[in-house]
Amino acid sequence: MEREFKLLIDGALVDGASCFEVINPATGEAFASCPKADEALLNRAVAAAKAAFPAWSATPIDRRAALVDILADKLDERADEFAALLTREQGKPLPQAQFEVMASSGTLRAFAQMRPESRVLRDEGGNRVFEHRTPLGVVAAITPWNYPVILAMNKIGPALVAGNTVVLKPAPTTPLTSLLFGEICAEVLPPGVINVICDQNDLGQLLTGHPDVAKVAFTGSTATGKKVMASSAGSIKRVTLELGGNDAAIVLDDVEPAVAARKVFDGAMINAGQVCVAIKRAYVPRSMYDDFCDELQQLAGQAVVDDGMCQGATIGPVQNAVQYAKVKELLDDARERGNVIAGGSALDRPGYFIAPTIVRDIPDDARIVREEQFGPVLPVLSYEDTDEVIARVNDSEYGLGGTIWGNDVARATEVAMRIDSGTVWVNQHMAIDPFIPFRGAKQSGMGGELGQAGLHEYTQAHIVNAVPLEPVA
Ligand code: NAD
Repeated sequence: MEREFKLLIDGALVDGASCFEVINPATGEAFASCPKADEALLNRAVAAAKAAFPAWSATPIDRRAALVDILADKLDERADEFAALLTREQGKPLPQAQFEVMASSGTLRAFAQMRPESRVLRDEGGNRVFEHRTPLGVVAAITPWNYPVILAMNKIGPALVAGNTVVLKPAPTTPLTSLLFGEICAEVLPPGVINVICDQNDLGQLLTGHPDVAKVAFTGSTATGKKVMASSAGSIKRVTLELGGNDAAIVLDDVEPAVAARKVFDGAMINAGQVCVAIKRAYVPRSMYDDFCDELQQLAGQAVVDDGMCQGATIGPVQNAVQYAKVKELLDDARERGNVIAGGSALDRPGYFIAPTIVRDIPDDARIVREEQFGPVLPVLSYEDTDEVIARVNDSEYGLGGTIWGNDVARATEVAMRIDSGTVWVNQHMAIDPFIPFRGAKQSGMGGELGQAGLHEYTQAHIVNAVPLEPVA
């Protein structure tokens, strides 16, 4: 345990009420101790955020944005430290961790450039009606374990620029990078503007039910999202939910199988498949099905599965023991229902490693096709015609993202427009951009993050409707 981590409450780096171990998923062994908050510390964090709100929301927006820019600078200065810690707690290969940290400071900088928009709705005959946007108050930012740094910044950037204060609660298996960010916040921001607390999956409900929290910005599973929505109902909190997905890739019949297979493989295996918008099922024309599957099989064989700190590793471990057990259970089902042509099992070594797995000849109702596997496993299905494949893809309770691959971009775009999800990428994957809104359809979410619309999610639209005072008779 080489280093001490502290919670951030009211501008002070403080001990938790107790501690718990953080496991490196590449070894299965503890490598750090994390301070854990209890209900009293959670209440202190919310009270500090509430107390900081009047002065922070009254601070000129350009000054708030300048401080968000400074957070980005400090993150960049410590990028190597963040990336190495991220790989150790999360498992992703170091270059992917470096990319996440770089994109995180980029997200903060993007929000520092944005401003909530006001608009005049009527200005005639002395009647002036305008809409402007006010901050909400205390934001509870709750993040999952797959992208703990950038998903926190997607919330902190807009929350602060809009004038809110924040209590950040990371997932218990990846809390350390958030605590490191707390150290930066302690240097840069007035006390209470950001607070960082950690738990062992026991404080989320208290936070979302807390009467002094005005908004919950949640990223995580659909199952937990439903609980968040229910417990936020008590005080009609604003809620944004970024939830699970079961994104499909549709390969059209005018592509070269080797080209599309490479793109689809990368989109399925990035971060060991633990991405909300990872490609989780691929649909390929019957005429190229065998060739496409053969290409995927080869790519799986070439992947380097290893500790993310090892140079050349392309796929790291699954992030935690619970997820590891879940993926193995889905693999059992995949072996029973389909034809596993690559991988199919855990690696015989310490840590939570799963061999990159390709499953073909699997029916639509198999668990690996219908559920979010969140691991390095890709089921590949064949189809005959476009209407049929679109109906099969849309037959899902999820609707987060999706990809269409085709040489005729106009035709691929036509198909994209018929997919029931928040985003569809054509001939690219995960082109997430802080200036472009990102949101889920169906049970993949409510509200959204990023872009001007994402900034507005942290505001109340406020209407002022004025006329001259009429004289009375
Ligand atoms: P999870 O739902 O188990 O946990 C997410 C967070 O919620 C954690 O911080 C957890 O401690 C907290 N939490 C647990 N119980 C809670 C409760 N009752 N009330 C409030 N908070 C509670 O999710 P996970 O397993 O950490 O993450 C994986 C999931 O996240 C996947 O389903 C993935 O698709 C989804 N995800 C979605 C997006 C998106 O943008 N749509 C992005 C990344 C991940």
